[in-house]
Amino acid sequence: MPPIALESPLTTTTTTTPKETPPTHPNKLHVHRSPKPFASGAISQIALPAGSLFTPITGTTSSHKAYTSVQTGRDSHIELNSDLVYCNHSCAPTLDFDMGKMEVRVVADRDLKVGDALTFFYPSSEWDMDQAFECKCGAESCKEYIKGAKDMSRDQLKGYWLNEHIRELLDERDAKSA
Ligand SMILES: [Zn+2]
Repeated sequence: MPPIALESPLTTTTTTTPKETPPTHPNKLHVHRSPKPFASGAISQIALPAGSLFTPITGTTSSHKAYTSVQTGRDSHIELNSDLVYCNHSCAPTLDFDMGKMEVRVVADRDLKVGDALTFFYPSSEWDMDQAFECKCGAESCKEYIKGAKDMSRDQLKGYWLNEHIRELLDERDAKSA
């Protein structure tokens, strides 16, 4: 998953500047790069109505579960290989990453404005993350500890758009515990 990997504990002890590469989504996404741990992020350069397409997801490669990977199915993960990797987690996200349709959409209930942080709800794609983290997104609905959907109650996930593989895995989990 995005920022975690890029600023993983393995790299935070070094002073290397994050590498500069040409923007992959010019006019849509600005990468705010910071040498500080967990401080890089993506900022929107466009305004779009709720529910609309932000960008198709292209140029991915299949991967194993890693800090930067995104889960696409119950046993499949990809690397984004683009600036989309800078979209941080938020408990009040601006985007949905639809890994079935391979597209990024503006969330259904809120318009996207220029300058908004581009974020998505990691448990919407991640079942059991490689590296859990304490969330400090500041949202009123903040879940505080994010490790994937596996450890979250239906109540905690209420109101979030979720990928199909997450909905299936939740159904299986809850059928077992019922
Ligand atoms: Zn949060």
